[in-house]
Amino acid sequence: MKIPKQIERVCDYCGDRQKFKFRGNFEAEPDSKFWYACQRCKHVTLVSIEELNLQANTNSQGNYRIYSASETYEIGETIYHAEWQDYGKVKKKEISSSGYSIIIVEFEKLGPKKLVENFKQ
Ligand SMILES: [Zn+2]
Repeated sequence: MKIPKQIERVCDYCGDRQKFKFRGNFEAEPDSKFWYACQRCKHVTLVSIEELNLQANTNSQGNYRIYSASETYEIGETIYHAEWQDYGKVKKKEISSSGYSIIIVEFEKLGPKKLVENFKQ
């Protein structure tokens, strides 16, 4: 199975549902446990392959990524916009007149929206 770069789970430290970023394989059990870092409090936690499998199966949208302006997306990919609480499919990519990479996303509830990708500050 492909190990997701980003997951959502309840953080034991913040006590809230947060985004976690993949940090690496657990040295002692590199195939079954993985380090993930909470994007809010930066606490690093071990996540088992079982939990990752479960997340993949219970997600009705199939594979999706949580939208972040700094990441790059592919046409056909499903994303989730956390603020708008809506799923969307990447339909098109373009470069704006000011040179930004733009994705055009067809959202389930909100319809087509333009979002910035690969944004470097
Ligand atoms: Zn946290």
